[in-house]
Amino acid sequence: MALEGLSRGIFRSLGFLKNRRKLDEEELRDMTRSLRRALQEADFNVRQTKEIVERMETRLREEELRPGLTLQTHAMNILYTELVRILGPAHQFQPRGATLLLVGLYGQGKTTTTAKLAEWYRKKHGLRVAVIEADVHRPGAYAQLSQLLEDTSVQVYGEPDNKDATQIVRNGLAECSAADLVIVDTAGRHQLDEELVEELENIASLTRATERWLVIDAQVGQAAGPVAASFHQLAGVTGIVVTKLDGTARGGGALSAVATTGAPVMYIGTGEKVADLEKFESDRFISRLLGMGDIQGLIDLAPEDLDEEEAMRLYYG
Ligand code: GDP
Repeated sequence: MALEGLSRGIFRSLGFLKNRRKLDEEELRDMTRSLRRALQEADFNVRQTKEIVERMETRLREEELRPGLTLQTHAMNILYTELVRILGPAHQFQPRGATLLLVGLYGQGKTTTTAKLAEWYRKKHGLRVAVIEADVHRPGAYAQLSQLLEDTSVQVYGEPDNKDATQIVRNGLAECSAADLVIVDTAGRHQLDEELVEELENIASLTRATERWLVIDAQVGQAAGPVAASFHQLAGVTGIVVTKLDGTARGGGALSAVATTGAPVMYIGTGEKVADLEKFESDRFISRLLGMGDIQGLIDLAPEDLDEEEAMRLYYG
């Protein structure tokens, strides 16, 4: 699973409270020091790390331990609610009839994610999906997308010799009019420059895409925040896909950084293959990260930690 480093670091730190029901100052200090390090190594920023650790300390001191619970389980539950709070609630997306624009910097995984999402909605939602390859700056993008989707019924539209992205999108939309969902892969750069901004604005207004998702590589760590913020300002990002969470222990930072922009994380990429995509729901993601079964998590949580809707979702899925 992704983020094993963070998971291990958390277990190591909470291990200081193992089998304890009474708080010992020295153990508490060891635990908070170790937790701070685990979060920082996963690239949570200084402010978030401080906030999580402080709230953990306060709640461990102030909250009465329920019968049968050890401090370690209690600490795990506290961490669960704090991390879910930081990563925010899930965003609902109605794919039928939608046009989805993928934006992002060069090499972040946009083209791969285009293929992954297309196959996801074809397979899991039974939709007719079409993709339009409008990355005219990276030679081979069209061939790559066609190859990724060659064993599927997803319609792939592209004009590899045309350098006019807006024209390709216009032609593509006409060609793919029978599709239930159209996904447009756009060009990236090493940074947002004027030409790209103009191209994206043209494509956004042409497609009238209600969904504009930013694709961002987890390995950029905390820098994910500023990148997300600048794309957000430009395109009004409605969702984020964090890629390459398989290869890094530092993904926590990317997740939390983008979460602070207010645009929700929709999916995470966990490998190079088309099937390596996971839906992101912060509660499920965190409970898996912490090794809690959903139901176990529910039983162990103090009732005031959950509202009814959240509890029902955890329980019934
Ligand atoms: P683009 O320039 O943003 O379109 O990036 P690409 O889709 O071409 O991806 C760049 C590289 O990252 C390729 O080698 C992909 O196979 C790889 N890649 C994309 N997503 C993931 C992922 O979730 N995990 C891993 N390990 N590699 C990925």
